Amino acid sequence: MIYDRSNIFARILRGEIPCKKVYEDPYALAFHDINPQAPTHILVIPKGPFCSFADFSAQATEQEITGFIRAVGLVARQAGLDDSGYRLLANHGPDSHQEVPHFHVHIAGGRPLGKMLA
Ligand code: AMP
Repeated sequence: MIYDRSNIFARILRGEIPCKKVYEDPYALAFHDINPQAPTHILVIPKGPFCSFADFSAQATEQEITGFIRAVGLVARQAGLDDSGYRLLANHGPDSHQEVPHFHVHIAGGRPLGKMLA
């Protein structure tokens, strides 16, 4: 799949449209989901042009992967979710209903989330 530079998260990364930013470093940007499914629902995206987890896990450098994973953990910790718990979710491809073709991890928490795919 060829990366679509006009996708909404690419536009957020370029500063063309706003987001409710909660964290940024050289590897990742994190912001509140516009349509939250839980009291805390944050999206973490890598800075590089990766379509999905499949693309990121295969093509990203070790530094990009390490930096991104550390950022996800930091954002969840800073959101105060370490003790109560949280769910990470990343969609890839049609069966997953991935809507935005820039790799992103959802961090959801702030209430009991129920069974995994309920
Ligand atoms: P996915 O189905 O995994 O691709 O999830 C895409 C997510 O992006 C959804 O939860 C949307 O609510 C969220 N979303 C779409 N546009 C924006 C935006 N401009 N700012 C923040 N979140 C967004």
